[in-house]
Amino acid sequence: MIIDAHYHLVAEEWYPEGWWQTVTNMYLNGMKALGMEMPMETIRESLIPSLWDPKGEALIRDMDAGGIDKTVLLAMDYWLLYGEPKGPIEVQLKAYADFQSKYPDRIIAFATVDPRRPNAVELVERAIKEWGLKGLNLYPQTGFFVNEPATYKVLEKASQLGVPVVCHTGQQGPAPFRAKYGNPIHLDDVVQDFPNLMVTAGHMAFGWHEQLFYLASLKYNLVTDISAWQDVSKFNYRKFCQVLRQALDRLGANRVLFGTDNPFVAALMSTKEYVDLIRDLPQNAPEEMTFTEAEVTAILGDNAARILSLNS
Ligand SMILES: [Zn+2]
Repeated sequence: MIIDAHYHLVAEEWYPEGWWQTVTNMYLNGMKALGMEMPMETIRESLIPSLWDPKGEALIRDMDAGGIDKTVLLAMDYWLLYGEPKGPIEVQLKAYADFQSKYPDRIIAFATVDPRRPNAVELVERAIKEWGLKGLNLYPQTGFFVNEPATYKVLEKASQLGVPVVCHTGQQGPAPFRAKYGNPIHLDDVVQDFPNLMVTAGHMAFGWHEQLFYLASLKYNLVTDISAWQDVSKFNYRKFCQVLRQALDRLGANRVLFGTDNPFVAALMSTKEYVDLIRDLPQNAPEEMTFTEAEVTAILGDNAARILSLNS
């Protein structure tokens, strides 16, 4: 089974305009760094709308093309940082729930909330109990710590409802996001204070990956995903293999999950290409590194299936 454990279904109206400007600037600067040029207007008017897929039709096509059995959708809440989008958070969460109901065998949709919202706990409870969402996604880089009291109230609810949590981690976030909130060290409190909660540190904590791997090595309810490392895997394959090997050695092969962060990085590498790159590690990795078929199977889907209780 192949599971993309980190995907964001997006629509224009679920996100504030400021966010689309942020993505436009990220693409502009990312392309410049690669020696490519595209006018800002072309990015904003053509590339950005190509990400919008409110009914998930493009996602299902992409899953079929890439041989992905199931995709975990992570909703996003940037409202408090950027201002209100046209479609408030409830609209996005209900759309996620509807899409999951339409494809119950293929889609696993997670709720999200900025814990600083006055109704954060109620919203999480409603999204999971009433609308049937299967987990909780947090994006602390909007300005909160995962171990602060407001977040703990939301985590208590997730723990009580028995759903897994994904927490975006890492230093790689454009302004106005603040990297300090994404330091994985703050998860140390969370995984100890909520021993029954399964927590995924998204993106192998870009830039703090070693800290994450050491932290997680003896914290068994902390796992990680390899989403948005496609640029490293494409332009510095040896480095990617080294980091992944380190993750597997510290956490064990059963706590590293495949994920893409698409649609945001699909222009750089398709979902299928990333799956193939992982699948081919046993053959293609540099000589001094060994990856086994069993590790590949675990990363590509078995680990996520276990964490999401799909085997029971
Ligand atoms: Zn993400």
